[in-house]
Amino acid sequence: MPTARSKEGTSAENRNPRETCGKCDEEVSNSDLFVMCSTCSLHYHIQCQKISKGKLKVIQEEDGILWFCHACRRTTRNMIGKMSEMEKRLVSLESQMKTSIQEIKNLRNQCESLQTKNSALEKAVTETKENLKNAENQRGFQSGIIDNLRRDLYKEHNRNISIEQQLDCIKQASRENNVRIVDMPESDEKDLKKQILDLLSIPDITEEDIQSTYRLGKPKDSKARDVIVKFASKQKRDIFYSMRKSTPKGRDNKKVFINEDLTQFRSKLFFDARRLVKTRKLHSTWTQEGNVIIKLNEEESPVAIATHQELRSKVFGYQFEDIEICSTSSEIDDCMSSDLNSL
Ligand SMILES: [Zn+2]
Ligand SMILES: [Zn+2]
Repeated sequence: MPTARSKEGTSAENRNPRETCGKCDEEVSNSDLFVMCSTCSLHYHIQCQKISKGKLKVIQEEDGILWFCHACRRTTRNMIGKMSEMEKRLVSLESQMKTSIQEIKNLRNQCESLQTKNSALEKAVTETKENLKNAENQRGFQSGIIDNLRRDLYKEHNRNISIEQQLDCIKQASRENNVRIVDMPESDEKDLKKQILDLLSIPDITEEDIQSTYRLGKPKDSKARDVIVKFASKQKRDIFYSMRKSTPKGRDNKKVFINEDLTQFRSKLFFDARRLVKTRKLHSTWTQEGNVIIKLNEEESPVAIATHQELRSKVFGYQFEDIEICSTSSEIDDCMSSDLNSL
């Protein structure tokens, strides 16, 4: 009686003769018809695996026929099921991977594009820094030029002041024979010389000593215009001027004043000095030979001042450098007088 052993070869020959059936656990003897599973190598009685003798014959005699026990077939079926599930998962994973790869590609592209942008930005920043540095250098250079120009302007300005002062001295010198009469009532202007002589009645001075007289500006109702009197000589003018304190009262009981005929510039300077006296910043002020004289206090000797700058520096101790440079000396004097005005 042939068995499966002849086909299973040497391994079957060497097996333990007291082998048991994988299904019923009874002994499989050499007299039994049995079959061996190609997967688990267990032996089975053919009746335990419901195999007919004809089927056993085919299994034993045909080459390349494998037989699997019920248990192995079930396991294989399960495994195939699991494998197909795994395959589906694999397909899904592959598709996910493709998506991921695409995403990675996109991210990489974005990253590269950002890198390009960043390096462009870095370049721009560097360029801007350089431009800024250049601009700063240029500004330093320009401010140097401006400083030089300012110094030149300052020099020119001082020169200008000096010229204007010289001019003012000449103007003042041309008025040395003059006096200015303030608050003398206006009447028939043909009698102006007589009116002037009557003011002081000095025997030494006659109409011939008066070279010319005129009222300043257009007539006003409110106030008598100032009179400029030009004497023929400085000597006569000085005599007349020295008697100025003894003038009678004029219109509305106002005293008539006889002053030196100052240039516009000196009048303004004298006006500001008088204001400082009123506000007690200055002891006293007067004019002498066309110059403005100030006295700071009882003890100090009187000094002549030529500009608002001098007035200011004497009274407040300011230096010229303290103020902004003005384009003309008259502007400077405006600065000074506006400062004095604010007292
Ligand atoms: Zn059995
Ligand atoms: Zn098996």
